[in-house]
Amino acid sequence: MGNQPLIVLSEESQRTSGEDAQSMNITAGKAVSEAVRTTLGPKGMDKMLVDSTGNVVVTNDGVTLLTEMDIDHPAANMIVEVSETQEEEVGDGTTSAVVVAGELLKRAEELLEQDIHASTLAQGYRQAAEQAREELEEIAIDVEPDDEEILTQIAATAMTGKGAENAKDLLAELVVDAVRAVADEDSIDTDNVAIEKVVGGSIDESELVEGVIVDKERVSENMPYFAEDANVAILDGALEVKETEIDAEVNVTDPDQLQQFLEQEEAQLEEMVDQLVDVGTDVVFVDGGIDDMAQHFLAQEGILAVRRVKDSDAGRIARATGARPVSTVEDITEDDLGYAGHVAQQDVGGDQRIFIEDVEDAKAVTMILRGGTEHVIDEIERAVEDSLGVVRTTVEDGQVLSGGGAPEVELSLALRDYADSVGGREQLAVEAFADALEIIPRTLAENAGLDPIDSLVELRADHDAGETGAGLDAYTGDTVDMEAEGVSEPLRVKTQAIESATEAAVMLLRIDDVIAAGELKGGKTDDDDDDDMPAGGPGGMGGGMGGMGGMGGMGGAM
Ligand code: ADP
Ligand code: MG
Repeated sequence: MGNQPLIVLSEESQRTSGEDAQSMNITAGKAVSEAVRTTLGPKGMDKMLVDSTGNVVVTNDGVTLLTEMDIDHPAANMIVEVSETQEEEVGDGTTSAVVVAGELLKRAEELLEQDIHASTLAQGYRQAAEQAREELEEIAIDVEPDDEEILTQIAATAMTGKGAENAKDLLAELVVDAVRAVADEDSIDTDNVAIEKVVGGSIDESELVEGVIVDKERVSENMPYFAEDANVAILDGALEVKETEIDAEVNVTDPDQLQQFLEQEEAQLEEMVDQLVDVGTDVVFVDGGIDDMAQHFLAQEGILAVRRVKDSDAGRIARATGARPVSTVEDITEDDLGYAGHVAQQDVGGDQRIFIEDVEDAKAVTMILRGGTEHVIDEIERAVEDSLGVVRTTVEDGQVLSGGGAPEVELSLALRDYADSVGGREQLAVEAFADALEIIPRTLAENAGLDPIDSLVELRADHDAGETGAGLDAYTGDTVDMEAEGVSEPLRVKTQAIESATEAAVMLLRIDDVIAAGELKGGKTDDDDDDDMPAGGPGGMGGGMGGMGGMGGMGGAM
């Protein structure tokens, strides 16, 4: 009986081990990065994604692409997470982070083939990333958090090459104003910048409202359209008579009793409204419903009321007006009221909205984005969100780097020097890391239709000569001083991208065994390409992602 193999895995489970596991993971990671690479930079192209129900998204934004793409391979998903972390932490640099991760894997593959052990690679990559952070901090440029000029440049750089490009000067100003308005002493929450999308009109008509816009109408036609010098109340409950907890049945035996019952309810509602009137309310935003009878009383008192207000809107109204939400109207006091100079129902692109404006210190603002079609505005919104993220990060950190591949070339040179001091086999990993970073300037050049080798040679020469800010002008193909050109990005966009890309690459490299409970999609990387992409069967991912990569196909992968 001694030779009977011991089976510990269920029959359905699938296991890939050793070099096969490594190469499967590397292939999946590279495929993800290949899929977004052509969108990078000012001359990057967009992609059109169609989901199974026919919804279309046209985008240039790395994280949007990858989350919409319905990726189904566990290793590929780890690379997608890199872009998600980047989005959460800084809001921009999502494509770059993924492209670097893919290139780290590709370079690692070459070293694995030369029998360098994965843990040596991991160690070398980690060391290189640590060194890279130090180098970047050294070349970072300090900026004052109230330097509008540089903030506007940073806002504009994040929108370059996106749908928002045409109106980027105007939008960059709006973004900077918005971030500065919502900034608290020690934190900035860009959720307090609401974005209102309006189909119709042109992007140049986009504007910033210092206050809040709520996508609602007043609850009754009999209420006033607007209120000046308005005291604003926020009710975190309903203006209704509370339902009894248990299903109660009231037996009414004569009509007087019914009348009495209704009168009682009416009196309760009137009391609620009276309470609002007593404290001096002009406008009330209610989380729940407003009873018809309460509406009647409110209208009689000339109060503008809005019901079923979203929590997020209520939060912004509170921040903008200084109102304190109360949960029961009986408890409301004058102190709970906020103030807005002007509250009005207005038409925006054919829809009625409530504007809460002229607040004393707008700690919540709304950006109205206009554009020709829904898809156009959606893409503008994504660019504006990236831009909000970089301005926020810059105000928080006060440190920036030049763009256009400048920091990557500088790092690459510095890391090659550093590699000499590392020695051992790790040295090779550090060198591979240095080479991998050049994927950014190389891709910027390729996407701009330039010769990547020429561009790189020129960039390296400039950096060798001490020009730390030399980057690629994607429009002319020249290498120029990016700081003078006004192309800057927050330091954290780069440090975060390198950190998450390294972590993800290292994690994938250290895996030598993939055990899946069921059929592993994309398990076979030698799958033939005739496989239908959406079929999603075994190998669907290998074929599918390859298809995506090929789709953008500008220039070779090297
Ligand atoms: P990501 O999702 O990584 O932010 P983008 O498509 O926004 O991808 O491209 C960012 C890259 O484009 C950065 O390396 C940035 O420095 C570069 N870039 C932005 N504007 C310019 C410009 N005007 N000239 C050259 N490079 C630029
Ligand atoms: Mg960007």
